Amino acid sequence: MLSQRDKAELAALAVLGVDPVGLDPGPADLLHAPGWQARVWPDAPTRKPCSACGRPATSTRLVPLPGLGPRWIDACRDHMVAGWRARSASITE
Ligand SMILES: [Zn+2]
Repeated sequence: MLSQRDKAELAALAVLGVDPVGLDPGPADLLHAPGWQARVWPDAPTRKPCSACGRPATSTRLVPLPGLGPRWIDACRDHMVAGWRARSASITE
């Protein structure tokens, strides 16, 4: 059975049009999320594209997804905000 958090994360990804299977697997250390800076630092050659639109990511989150384990959700500013709103809406429903 999915937790409320799992449902909120999956609902937000659906709103953004992101297939969770295509997200990069991440480390098990969710608290420290080693490597996050290299995914979003403006001058980093390893900066990732937004998972939703492909523009350069300005934020990243390491999220344990049901059946998939820890996955990186990289987002540009607009999709970071859209994801937050979708998660919030899902939780308050
Ligand atoms: Zn985006």
